Amino acid sequence: MATNRTFTMLKPDSLEKGNTGSILEKINAAGFKIVAMKQTQMTVRDAQTFYAVHNERPFFNDLVEFMTRGPIVAAILEKENAVEDFRTLIGATNPEEAAEGTIRKLFADSMSENAVHGSDSDENAAIEGAFHFSGREVF
Ligand code: GDP
Repeated sequence: MATNRTFTMLKPDSLEKGNTGSILEKINAAGFKIVAMKQTQMTVRDAQTFYAVHNERPFFNDLVEFMTRGPIVAAILEKENAVEDFRTLIGATNPEEAAEGTIRKLFADSMSENAVHGSDSDENAAIEGAFHFSGREVF
C-alpha cells in the first residue's frame, strides 16, 4: 500500500560536524514536510533493536557504537512517494557511489558514517517512525 511518509535520522556524524541545518534545508527544498522531529540519543539497546535486521553482519557492532556515540535528529517526513524520493535524495549507502548533489555525496565521509538514514520501504517507514515517536508527537 502506498504511503506518503518516510522516516529519517540525521546520524551522529552530521550533528558533530554542525550539518543539521544544511541537511534539513535540503530536505525542505526537496518538498518534504516535517510532521515529527526531535533531537535525541539512542541507547545501545535502541540501536541494536532499530538495526536488528543487520545483527549477523560483520559491521553490526561498529554500527551500534557509531549510532550511539552522540545525539541524532529523528524525523518523519511527508511527501508523495516519500520512501523512494527520499532514498533518491540521500543517495547510495556508500558516499563514493552516491550521485552528485545527494545528501550523502555532500555530507558523508564513509560507508559507515554516512550522514543520514532513510527507510527502505513503506512498512519499515511506519515501524521506524513508531519506534521514535508516539502518536501525539506526529502532526
Ligand atoms: P542504508 O539503507 O543505505 O542505510 O544501508 P543498509 O541498510 O545496508 O545499512 C545500514 C547502515 O549500516 C548504513 O547506512 C551504514 O551506516 C552501515 N553500513 C552498511 N554497510 C556497512 C559496511 O560495510 N561497513 C560499515 N562499517 N557500516 C556499514
